[in-house]
Amino acid sequence: MQIKSLTKNKRSRDSERLLVLLEMLQNRHDHPDAQTCLHDMQKLVPGIGQSTVYRHLDKLVQNGLVNEIRIDDGPAKFDADVDVHAHFVCTKCDNLLDISPINVVADFPGTVESATYIAKGTCNNCLTNN
Ligand SMILES: [Zn+2]
Ligand SMILES: [Zn+2]
Repeated sequence: MQIKSLTKNKRSRDSERLLVLLEMLQNRHDHPDAQTCLHDMQKLVPGIGQSTVYRHLDKLVQNGLVNEIRIDDGPAKFDADVDVHAHFVCTKCDNLLDISPINVVADFPGTVESATYIAKGTCNNCLTNN
C-alpha cells in the first residue's frame, strides 16, 4: 500500500495526522468536502489547523489514496473508496451517494485506472419529504 511509502522514514506527528485523516475518510461514505474534513478532524485532533488538513488532503489525492470529486462549481468532495464506482448527486440537497459500479468500461480493450460517473436527480430523502 502506498501509504507506507508516504509515511516511512518519518514517523512524525505530521504523518500520524495524515493517517488519522485517511482513516476518518475510509470510515465514511458521505463524501465530505474540505470544510467538513477540517471540522471532523478538529474533533479527532484538537488544535489541528486548516492548512495542515488541506495539505494532507492534497497529499492523499496526489498519491491516489483518496479521490477528489468535483461537481459543477461546488466544492471538491473527498472519497477514500478508490475502486471504480459511480456517484449520484441530488440536485435538491447536494447529497453525494455511491451507486453500483457501472460496467461500461468492462469491454474496453485497455486498462482503465480511474473513471468518473455522476448521475443527477432527486434522492429518496428529498422525494419522501415533499
Ligand atoms: Zn436530496
Ligand atoms: Zn464514492
